[in-house]
Amino acid sequence: MSVAIQAERLRKVYPGSPPVAALKSASLEIADNEFFTLLGPSGCGKTTLLRLVAGFESITGGTLHLFGEDISHLPPEKRPVNTVFQHYSLFPHMTILDNVAFGLRRLGKSRQEAAGKAQEMLDLVQLRDYGARLPNQLSGGQQQRVALARALAPRPRVLLLDEPLSALDLKLRQSMRLELKRLQRETGITFVFVTHDQDEALAMSDRIAVMSAGEIQQIATPGEIYEYPANRFVAEFIGDANFYQATAEQIADDGATYLTPFGTRLAGPLVAGVGPGSSVTIFVRPEKVALARTATEGALPGRVRDVIYLGDTTDYRIALDQGGAITVRAENHKDGRPLANPGDDVFVELDPSALRVLKE
Ligand code: ATP
Repeated sequence: MSVAIQAERLRKVYPGSPPVAALKSASLEIADNEFFTLLGPSGCGKTTLLRLVAGFESITGGTLHLFGEDISHLPPEKRPVNTVFQHYSLFPHMTILDNVAFGLRRLGKSRQEAAGKAQEMLDLVQLRDYGARLPNQLSGGQQQRVALARALAPRPRVLLLDEPLSALDLKLRQSMRLELKRLQRETGITFVFVTHDQDEALAMSDRIAVMSAGEIQQIATPGEIYEYPANRFVAEFIGDANFYQATAEQIADDGATYLTPFGTRLAGPLVAGVGPGSSVTIFVRPEKVALARTATEGALPGRVRDVIYLGDTTDYRIALDQGGAITVRAENHKDGRPLANPGDDVFVELDPSALRVLKE
């Protein structure tokens, strides 16, 4: 695996009074050919990190290497990197083909060669017959595909994508996810994708870096991030979760046992600084808890407080007889009716394998 981008303790402070530490000390490695996503809430520093890689902003501290080369002082146009922005800004008076060919012409390609390459790129983004049109004769989704074709045409080694789908409607966004994933696979170009949309990140990425307040919280595959978030911020940002306190019982070299508030024991990872008797946070995703109308072995009795209809599923907020509450997400009956209504007495089935211990 060769490394495309390597950032070590990368830092960016925007001057001003007070100065803004947009990126505090970010370290990451992005592999060549990887679809890598920077995910986090607004203002967490995603775009700043992307702009440092592109060379649009200067680095305050740390190092940045691209394919082994220190690029800290390399101007943007010398970097083998291209960027697609949320607002695709095509030239309105140029045809689609000329828009895509524009960058190639600037690189010194002949008119003919640039047009040939641009047509290839339009084929790639499935706009083969649109080359003669003007941008305003295309839908928003098609224009974003042209912007992609334009950015891919010079064959950058890395493509940076700054929320490129956020101006599109939901259906289009979903189909563009597949499209982007296919483009990345077919071109073999490293994609660094910025989004605050967790579904988008989970659906497309090989790996995700979850960021908050200028810091990277976790870097892992979508499955690892969802199942084993590193801390409460990540667990809350990706998906929904019920949180509880548990008590550490036994600590061994390779793991620990925790006593849960449900009276069950949970084998889990070691947590830094935790000894027998100390408290840790555990969580369970609402879709991993089941709802029953009749008592089953080990099920916890409770009463439905709120029912939130979500279409394919329904969330049930349940007050447990033992104290505390839990949210359960369950599919509706086949005819669409929810499983229970407010005020119903129910039983909550909690499989110990669905409980997770947070390490931080
Ligand atoms: P969004 O999703 O809203 O684009 P982001 O995660 O991409 O957010 P950044 O745009 O990187 O976040 O901004 C990180 C922090 O740096 C924010 O607090 C922002 O206000 C600040 N910031 C960004 N650009 C500048 C600038 N040119 N000058 C001063 N502060 C800036």
